[in-house]
Amino acid sequence: MRQTLINQLYKITKPQLLSNLRELEDIQWHSRKDVELLQQQHLQRLLDYVNIHVPYYRDLFKKIGFHPQDYAKNPDNFQKIPLLTKQTIRQNRSLLLTSEAARLKTLSEKVTGGTTGEPTIFLQDKMYRDYNNALDYYMASWSGWQLGQPQFWILARMPVHTGLDNKLYQTKNWLARRFESDAFLMTDESINRFVAQMEAHPGGFMQCYVSVGYKIAQFLEKSRYKSNLRAVYLTSEPLFDYQRKFMEQVYACPIFEWYGSNETGDVACECPEHNGLHVITRNSLVEVLKDGQPVPDGEEGDLVITCLTNFAMPLIRYKIEDLGTKSTKECPCGRGLPLLEVIGGRKVDLFKTRAGHTVYGMFANGVVTELGSVKQFQVIQKTLDLVIFKIISDTPLSEQKLKTVETFTKDALGDNVTVQFEFVDELPKTISGKHRHLISEVE
Ligand SMILES: [Zn+2]
Repeated sequence: MRQTLINQLYKITKPQLLSNLRELEDIQWHSRKDVELLQQQHLQRLLDYVNIHVPYYRDLFKKIGFHPQDYAKNPDNFQKIPLLTKQTIRQNRSLLLTSEAARLKTLSEKVTGGTTGEPTIFLQDKMYRDYNNALDYYMASWSGWQLGQPQFWILARMPVHTGLDNKLYQTKNWLARRFESDAFLMTDESINRFVAQMEAHPGGFMQCYVSVGYKIAQFLEKSRYKSNLRAVYLTSEPLFDYQRKFMEQVYACPIFEWYGSNETGDVACECPEHNGLHVITRNSLVEVLKDGQPVPDGEEGDLVITCLTNFAMPLIRYKIEDLGTKSTKECPCGRGLPLLEVIGGRKVDLFKTRAGHTVYGMFANGVVTELGSVKQFQVIQKTLDLVIFKIISDTPLSEQKLKTVETFTKDALGDNVTVQFEFVDELPKTISGKHRHLISEVE
């Protein structure tokens, strides 16, 4: 009943999302060759578009003597376009925006921290949102989940709605059986509430950061609640084997690794065969490079991503600062979407704990970005028992905020850790001139 209602509601309110969903479902069963051809057509459309509407690319193409027709003649010519870095984006923000007025009216904003610890702002259009909302449901459907069944989202950034807008939002969530929680407010009390809700609504999927999923699993193991989830989708941080095994056992359902970013949207996801991550070719073109040159399949390198659905502020050959490997394997599931193997994690140091675990340091990125006024920061793990936050901030931070950071750090690294704060005017750079915002000096 609710499923029919949801489908009817979406037909009226989100027809684009549904048609995108059908397109995505169709693409996956084409042969690899056809999938690639389709992707080339979408890239061609993007290149033609930016050459007319986006000043940054128009000027760049002129400067390097590249024309979108060069790509049509030979796809290898795509590599003539220089890589796009976060720094270039910050320096050319207005030039990277489309001049097409209708599209500019549909913009929304995403902010990302990145390895320099300095925030970069990304603007996205309605087309991008319609595809990426459809992609959320599309990838969730790989676990057998269907629209109308429960969905649990633990979000790093909760949507802000007020008044009537909020009532409408809550009603839509209620109808869609969509439950949202704040990833940064995961206290014992809120986790308790969350797992009770999860138990009361069986057959759903949960989507969250690896570390959050792990934290909830640890809680669940000791609680009286049982998981009756269909699947757990984990993102944003490397998923270590010990974490996967533990979560599979506690959640008693398959774990799917899901790779994407705030800036590019969804990039790749595991299918039920768990054989690596299928690249979502409709949204993302993935290259793997070393020193700017493509590496053979099976070799690890820098991931470079072109987002094919955002024309408002296009990211072409964007250096995302993650590592990955194009797989040489074919997946028995029959999907024509290529496989990515081993997401080696963001190029930041991994922190270690006294308990012998490796912790992904991005926890610090999240918490410090949340603090708002911080301009830049660096987190240094001096020893297994000492972590120092070096912070550049225009305004002083309250004791309460510092306490939150301390709690977050202890949660991630252990209660044995002493957390110190140093407010500085400048942060040391590496030889390449980059700020590293996460440094572990633990051998
Ligand atoms: Zn597969």
